[in-house]
Amino acid sequence: GMLNRIDQVEDTVQAFITQTREQALTQAKAVDAKIRQGEKVAPLAGIPGALKDNMCLQGVKTTCASKILADFVPPYTATAVDKLLSQSVILLGKTNMDEFAMGSSTENSSMMVTRNPWNTDTVPGGSSGGSAAAVAAAETIWALGSDTGGSIRQPAAYCGVVGLKPTYGRVSRYGLVAYASSLDQIGPITRDVTDCALVLNAIAGHDPKDSTSIDMAAPDFTRALVQDVKGLVIGLPWEYFGAGLNPAVRQHVEAAVKQLEAAGAVVKEVSMPHTEYALSAYYLIATAEASSNLARYDGVGFGYRGQGNDIVSMYKQTRTQGFGEEVRRRIMLGTYALSSGYYDAYYLKALKVRTLIKQDFDRAFESVDVLITPTAPTQAFKVGEKVNDPLTMYLEDVCTVPINLAGVPALSMPCGFAGGLPVGLQIIGKPLGEETILRTAYTLE
Ligand code: GLN
Repeated sequence: GMLNRIDQVEDTVQAFITQTREQALTQAKAVDAKIRQGEKVAPLAGIPGALKDNMCLQGVKTTCASKILADFVPPYTATAVDKLLSQSVILLGKTNMDEFAMGSSTENSSMMVTRNPWNTDTVPGGSSGGSAAAVAAAETIWALGSDTGGSIRQPAAYCGVVGLKPTYGRVSRYGLVAYASSLDQIGPITRDVTDCALVLNAIAGHDPKDSTSIDMAAPDFTRALVQDVKGLVIGLPWEYFGAGLNPAVRQHVEAAVKQLEAAGAVVKEVSMPHTEYALSAYYLIATAEASSNLARYDGVGFGYRGQGNDIVSMYKQTRTQGFGEEVRRRIMLGTYALSSGYYDAYYLKALKVRTLIKQDFDRAFESVDVLITPTAPTQAFKVGEKVNDPLTMYLEDVCTVPINLAGVPALSMPCGFAGGLPVGLQIIGKPLGEETILRTAYTLE
């Protein structure tokens, strides 16, 4: 069924870099045989899904939508993917993304342009745009994305689906190609909140292979699927509702909050005074970490190799030809921020701002259970509209990056339509507060 659907719409949507049809059919037959033999199977057994192409799956290309990894076949599988495979899921393939997860529209892919299924003139968001578009177009039931500064939540918002960035450390990063290691987190992109809880159940939990993984058993998240927000205190940080917010987005988010209030929640305004510095701090920290993480692509160990008469010119050719423009920009920004003489002024300062932002969240959560904001200041924009203007593109991340800097969990869900395009709302929770987020989302759905 899913394969037929992919055949119907994939030419238009272009969500997949690699399809794994043969393996999918083999996996499906194996699950079918298990069920016929009366074997007990896991909740996601036989349910088709897709992986963002920065997660390793043994024997299948993992390109990160980059020329430098265009032919890279990993010899191992990411822990989150392994856990899903142990539930006997069916994998349909690897989805398109901004190169190395750097971007907010999936237009920085060196492979193809993914379209938003609601309006194919518009972008699906990014960087997990392929995953979100595939779920929205019903090419897959669930997908995994990765979120460093909004890359699960913002494409989920643009495509009208549910996306969750778990608490930092809740899901193992082993086998996820690193962008900015202190911010990266894998999470589910699904059609509804129930599926989100089911996929989270499969992927969450401690992993000794990831030193930042939280050493704590994950609860059964489906138990949070109850419609009950009586007495729940919702904070609205006014800094997220300021100038630059599209009026239709504001209207739909505010209407959703009213709905929760009518269901018994208590709504109060809060202030998070360091919000305005989050974007600058994020783009310093993320690029600094990226410049270090991407140093490994030197044409020696693996991936693309350029020509050169000596090793330095070989490095130069490899990295100039292998990386796209945005990735090169970020490596240069990050290297600059880390260089001696500028380190204190930029990188160290950004780390201090990160601490202040974390404290904004700690303080807010002393008096509220969840925070609600728009996921992004606008709806999906036109393909090509922002691609030559990196700064306007970065502004799309203003509501999502503070969450990664603080390490807290947040979910995006649809809360209405305007102009034929979905609007996304963000529910932010305390550290390890995924259950409260899911309960709020389930009540609103
Ligand atoms: N758009 C942000 C960036 O380009 C976030 C990307 C992400 O979360 N991977 O860095």
